[in-house]
Amino acid sequence: MGIIRVLDEQLANQIAAGEVVERPASVVKELVENAVDAGATTIDIAVEEGGLQLIRVTDNGSGIQHEDMEIAFSRHATSKIQSDRDLFRIASLGFRGEALPSIAAVARVSCVSSAEDSGLGRLIRMEGGKLTADEHAGASQGTDMSVSDLFFNTPARLKYMKSIQTELGHISDYVYRIALAHPGIAFSLTHNGGSLLRTRGDGDRLQVIAAVYGTNTAKAMIPVQGDHPDYDLQGFISKPELTRANRNGITTIVNGRYIRSYAVQQALLQAYHTLLPINRFPLAVLEIGMHPGLVDVNVHPSKLEVRFSKEAELREFVEHVAGEALGKRRHIPGPDAG
Ligand code: ADP
Ligand code: MG
Repeated sequence: MGIIRVLDEQLANQIAAGEVVERPASVVKELVENAVDAGATTIDIAVEEGGLQLIRVTDNGSGIQHEDMEIAFSRHATSKIQSDRDLFRIASLGFRGEALPSIAAVARVSCVSSAEDSGLGRLIRMEGGKLTADEHAGASQGTDMSVSDLFFNTPARLKYMKSIQTELGHISDYVYRIALAHPGIAFSLTHNGGSLLRTRGDGDRLQVIAAVYGTNTAKAMIPVQGDHPDYDLQGFISKPELTRANRNGITTIVNGRYIRSYAVQQALLQAYHTLLPINRFPLAVLEIGMHPGLVDVNVHPSKLEVRFSKEAELREFVEHVAGEALGKRRHIPGPDAG
């Protein structure tokens, strides 16, 4: 008799959780992305103790149907893709069906959701991957996910967590970016009851920039806009006078997803060319739209890194559009240009 065994589901989920749930910010990201995918127009995020004690995300999206509640927490269960063809044209932020089972494997989760406006909903609780409660609950349409005691059953991972301040920093960084990516959604973020962010959700991205970086920064931004057969770009980039010591102020959004792209950053820096002092970087929010077939988001479980099929063209386009917006300034001669 052989010695190879298929892992039981709970163990498989715990292993997957190692990749999907690196830290509290990963939970926030997964829950918020689900809320965005559900078409929410309001997303409230409340965290306690850097998210290690509690992460609660409440949305007014589509909600989860009663009969889908439990299966939503099983592995590879998703409503977002069905066939391999869908994998090459992903329009949602999620699609792997891994987040909820992974989170439930390493925390205590309570989920109240309703897919209708009848005031009726369902509540389920999961602890370390096991269903511990399943009952009717009053709820308006939308979903309310509470994740507490993250990593309570994986002490090795818990030990690896940094200070509350560091974990909170990762959470707020993510929430700022997703709010910048979706100015049409009203976001709020609180930590231990104190407000860290509130956006209006009226579609005004400059207002979100003001909420995240301050009004003076928002005033120093120039709009960028461009079209291309394959891409469109819109957003804001900073006047060359406003610089930062690192690239963290560059937010790249592709088809509604906040991503990290060295290629896009480089293209933007190229556009500034000599306008920036050495080792100084601009602030930017670039929203790039493209056919989903031109970008592979299935590179890493966190989906922060993606692959572009025509990267050189994209770089050229970004550099061109940003360069145009900066154009007039570049030609202004003078000793203190830049
Ligand atoms: P994925 O997002 O990759 O589909 P998840 O594990 O994150 O996988 O979620 C599983 C399913 O649960 C989703 O496909 C969706 O149908 C449902 N779901 C999760 N969160 C929400 C939410 N906030 N609102 C509506 N449906 C949700
Ligand atoms: Mg998801």
